[in-house]
Amino acid sequence: MNATQRLPALQLLLQASPYPNAPPLNHRCHLAMWRSPVAPPHARTFVVALLFVVANGLLAGLASQATAEDADGNKQVLLVAGNPSHGFGSHEHYAGVRLLADAITSSTDKAAVTVVKRWPTDEQVDAADTIVIYCDGGGRHVAMAHRDQLRKKLAKGCGLVCIHYAVEMVPGEPGDDWVEMLGGHFEVHYSVNPHWVADFKSLPNHPIAAGVEPFKTDDEWYFYMRFSDQGKVTPILAAVAPEDTMRRPDGAHSGNPHVRKSVAAGEKQTVAWAYDRPDGGRSFGFTGGHYHWNWGNDNQRRLMANAILWTAGMDVPKNGFSLGQEKVGVERLLENQDYNPPKNFDQQQVAEKFELTSTGPKKKGQ
Ligand SMILES: [Zn+2]
Repeated sequence: MNATQRLPALQLLLQASPYPNAPPLNHRCHLAMWRSPVAPPHARTFVVALLFVVANGLLAGLASQATAEDADGNKQVLLVAGNPSHGFGSHEHYAGVRLLADAITSSTDKAAVTVVKRWPTDEQVDAADTIVIYCDGGGRHVAMAHRDQLRKKLAKGCGLVCIHYAVEMVPGEPGDDWVEMLGGHFEVHYSVNPHWVADFKSLPNHPIAAGVEPFKTDDEWYFYMRFSDQGKVTPILAAVAPEDTMRRPDGAHSGNPHVRKSVAAGEKQTVAWAYDRPDGGRSFGFTGGHYHWNWGNDNQRRLMANAILWTAGMDVPKNGFSLGQEKVGVERLLENQDYNPPKNFDQQQVAEKFELTSTGPKKKGQ
């Protein structure tokens, strides 16, 4: 029985008056004794005790399992892809979440996945144990007009994951909301978005990092997020940003005195974080995801599968989720993209740069 099924039963029990003239309740045979005008004292004692035990059990159940598992106990993962964005091969929101959906369903039969383009229906939100958002950010964020709905949903224990540009919210109230719900956000004139090779030399002892080897990728790894000072923010991916990440002049996304000081000091920059929210729920922010090709990296996909299912309240296996047997090479990455490849697309060059398998044509001379 899930929480939403428990609630009516709980309300029914708490509304049942322990007085002898209470109206009859016909919904539950075990409450039929309330129909008696005067129940025997021992029966009243028994029923009051039973009411206490059952109500407490239901309340404990609600507190520990404020999620929306289906009848089979499967976790419900809702993957939200925003509008087409940057052109072929980058910010491929829909193709990206389809790959994450495959990673999850290939790893476990305990999670059901729903993929939607743009904002989901109320029913889909209600059913979710975690909501994963991959979309344009700032004023075009797909969740911009739905933050109140999200806040109410997260208060029930639902997880939240934001990928790449989706970690950026408009400063002020929307940004504060993202700090509260996601544990941090890209704040313009504070955070930065250079392209660089991040070398993750070690990973923390955290379920999200289970089975993930140290790796490095070329991506638009945002850093210097505005983090929450509430709850618990745990860096999951962090690397020292090279000096050339600061080569651009100051600007909304390119540089400012705060981040320059941090980079000059050689501080590790957090680009993915877990957030244990004060309300007991879990969130995860991931700033990579510019280049679609990096979804072919097993370490990145495993990290995301671990993270998404961790936010849904699942236990992550010791070696992380398996991702199944199928390799994700360039051919698979070409599926579902919003844009067609340009005429000069060099499949082999992409395979080499991003260390992917490819059965495509080799370059001339090979
Ligand atoms: Zn980008």
